[in-house]
Amino acid sequence: MSSTRTASGKTSGKNRTWRNWGGNVSARPAREVAPASVDELAEAVRRAAEDGLRVKAVGTGHSFTSIAATDGVLIRPHLLTGIRRIDRDAMTVTVEAGTPLKRLNVALAREGLSLTNMGDIMEQTVSGATSTGTHGTGRDSASIAAQIKGLELVTADGSVLTCSEKENPEVFAAARIGLGALGVVTAITFAVEPVFLLTAREEPMPFERVLADFDELWAENEHFEFYWFPHTGSTNTKRNNRSAGPAQPVGRLQGWFDDEFLSNGVFQAANWVGRAVPATIPAIARISSKALSARTYTDIPYEVFTSPRRVRFVEMEYAVPREAVVETLRELKAMVDRSGLRISFPVEVRTAPADDITLSTASGRDSAYIAVHMFRGTPYRAYFTAAERIFTAHEGRPHWGKVHTRDAKYFAGVYPRFGEFTALRDRLDPDRRFQNDYLRRVLGS
Ligand SMILES: Cc1cc2nc3c(=O)[nH]c(=O)nc-3n(C[C@H](O)[C@H](O)[C@H](O)COP(=O)(O)OP(=O)(O)OC[C@H]3O[C@@H](n4cnc5c(N)ncnc54)[C@H](O)[C@@H]3O)c2cc1C
Repeated sequence: MSSTRTASGKTSGKNRTWRNWGGNVSARPAREVAPASVDELAEAVRRAAEDGLRVKAVGTGHSFTSIAATDGVLIRPHLLTGIRRIDRDAMTVTVEAGTPLKRLNVALAREGLSLTNMGDIMEQTVSGATSTGTHGTGRDSASIAAQIKGLELVTADGSVLTCSEKENPEVFAAARIGLGALGVVTAITFAVEPVFLLTAREEPMPFERVLADFDELWAENEHFEFYWFPHTGSTNTKRNNRSAGPAQPVGRLQGWFDDEFLSNGVFQAANWVGRAVPATIPAIARISSKALSARTYTDIPYEVFTSPRRVRFVEMEYAVPREAVVETLRELKAMVDRSGLRISFPVEVRTAPADDITLSTASGRDSAYIAVHMFRGTPYRAYFTAAERIFTAHEGRPHWGKVHTRDAKYFAGVYPRFGEFTALRDRLDPDRRFQNDYLRRVLGS
């Protein structure tokens, strides 16, 4: 069951250091296991308890916080993958917890099915993505976790617990976004629907116009998002709406040119230049904001929602009440304009409707997400600290997997049901088998 792997989100080298994708978090687990069954996983949790070690299941290491770091037993996902069952009457799919989202998306499309909404990439595992509340953008449809119908997890005593709206509903309410704190998820049942087409309209738009028309842009589109380029008054907007077809995918050459050459290759080079000579960044930002021209295409959901992200970065993202987004963005732009900061990465803005998951960033509140990024290897603290001050003044809730400095005291103030989550943790994990430094900070000891 032991394994040593290389590359990001993996363990490498003689000293077996685990690193995340962003390169800003590392850990040295005491040992690693890669269970191939629920029984093996439960056994690994029991053995860790006998040895007095903590336990942490990881996905693909795409979180920017130390939420997946452990000095105890690191549980690898790669042998616990695949589709367990598709139920066409209930319109659900049950997958093993370590299944990468891309494998799920491709398998579902082959069956003529799809998830309703998803984030920007599909590299993550289903359990890693849902555990931190990974989301895309939506007027009516919410995060990936909000599409969960049932969960199976191994709890601290090594027993298997299943939950849904009807079965152990108090566990279901919290464990869909469980932060790895309630147990190790072994399988997830998602709602699915017949695969559908989305027409994407990507279009540059002045920042001021997007802010002035934000309510209409949000209300008139099923999925609206935009990227604002700091140091400019320009944005790229993206509107995705269901379509009767026909499918008109991005042509191969144009797709390569826009999504690989410009968005990854040229963008990477521009960031290298910006990192070496920060004074060039505003000029680069002006060119970047003009590089992508308007385009329209129609395709199946994962082809429209997700795209490759090869340029490495570090990210902070906060959910603010949706009605506060315009004011928050104005404050962010004013802060950038009067600071000496040089920011080469666009700011991404998305939305989600309120949901009923205890510690979802959109729990009980219609939300807008504002994400700030810095190129990997560039100092990010000054920018993120200034941005965080603005986000927290609007009662922002940080993404659990993206850089932030908040603690349990803050969360008790911005999450009305915070105590419900910690009480459940006390019940399911009284000895804190799944504790790490991050959980100690955000949930308390
Ligand atoms: C390039 C990039 C793009 C991104 N795009 C988006 C986006 O569009 N929207 C968004 O919201 N986020 C986005 N993120 C953030 C990312 O989706 C989350 O951080 C996600 O949690 C990462 O999933 P992972 O599989 O890598 O999990 P990891 O980061 O490895 O782990 C995350 C958490 O899940 C827990 N976990 C993993 N497996 C299990 C299990 N079996 N049982 C219990 N707990 C488990 C871990 O313990 C940890 O607490 C992006 C990140 C990157 C690097």
